[in-house]
Amino acid sequence: DGIRDHCVTGVQTCALPISRLFRLPKESIGRPLFELVRQPQLQNWVELTLGAREVAGGELLLTNPTSRTLSVRVQPLPEGSTGGRAMVVATDISQLRRLEEIRQEFVANASHELKTPLASIKACLETLVDGGAIDDPEVRDRFLNVVSEQADRMDHLIRDLLSLTRIENDEADLDLHPVDLESLVTQSVGRQRQTAERKRISLRIEPPADPVEPLGDEESLEHILDNLIDNAVKYTDAGGVVTIRWRPDGDWCLLEVQDTGIGIPHQHLDRIFERFYRVDRARSREVGGTGLGLSIVKHLVQNQGGEIRVASQMGKGTSFSVRLLRAERFPG
Ligand code: ADP
Repeated sequence: DGIRDHCVTGVQTCALPISRLFRLPKESIGRPLFELVRQPQLQNWVELTLGAREVAGGELLLTNPTSRTLSVRVQPLPEGSTGGRAMVVATDISQLRRLEEIRQEFVANASHELKTPLASIKACLETLVDGGAIDDPEVRDRFLNVVSEQADRMDHLIRDLLSLTRIENDEADLDLHPVDLESLVTQSVGRQRQTAERKRISLRIEPPADPVEPLGDEESLEHILDNLIDNAVKYTDAGGVVTIRWRPDGDWCLLEVQDTGIGIPHQHLDRIFERFYRVDRARSREVGGTGLGLSIVKHLVQNQGGEIRVASQMGKGTSFSVRLLRAERFPG
């Protein structure tokens, strides 16, 4: 006769606690659906199914107690002794929706990041060719330099995108071994030495008193060190110091890259590992950043069973610490 009369005759949970999502009380059997679930949309579907004996349903957005997206299907069942019956099947698809959003955001960001340098290249070429600047050697060289810089930026971005995709797909493939961290740190510092010297930044290596080896993948660790030291140099002003140290810490080997740089505002700390996230977009671009470095680092660390943390103080500096299992504690 009305939705108020339709009572719940059974609640069954498969993989997910749907009863918790709908905040169903323990004693729901025999009580009207209307009383238990205050979702007009769901009531409408149930009424439709009971009235027209058709399948109804769609997506339902729950906000309380947490934000969730449910896919709901209401199906007619053969009539029981007390009248029409319907079965409500609700599947929690929040994770799927979130992944879709992340993917869409990623494609939009990647296209935008590629579009910007491409627009500058096009503008330079148009000015050179249509504007006649090609005949003035000085102007021509200036424009060609911009073209070359922007092409490098696109190249860098595409490489980072490819690395990220590869790392995300490679998760299970890493073969972990004891790694000679001292030699990797020395090599990575060697690669950054020139840039650091140009900026008058000193790079310091502080090995532990007792040697310790992490269980890791050499190529990944090289990439992690290059990225963290490169960032430390990029975001530190002239006269600063970048220190790389590592030490045993229980079952872990703790590697730290610390700088005396500009720091990261507190409210951004949680987000800097996200793809394309930058505190200061203009500054990152100026120093040749893509906004992908830290998300690549985070994935590489996690693929080796480790974790990464950041601590920072504005104007004082930033410290990234990477925790990897100690090889001697986990042989073979
Ligand atoms: P980018 O290519 O922009 O450097 P990353 O993913 O490596 O991208 O870093 C994301 C953002 O985190 C940077 O844009 C910068 O704002 C901030 N950041 C990273 N490392 C440091 C650091 N050592 N000091 C200050 N800010 C940093």
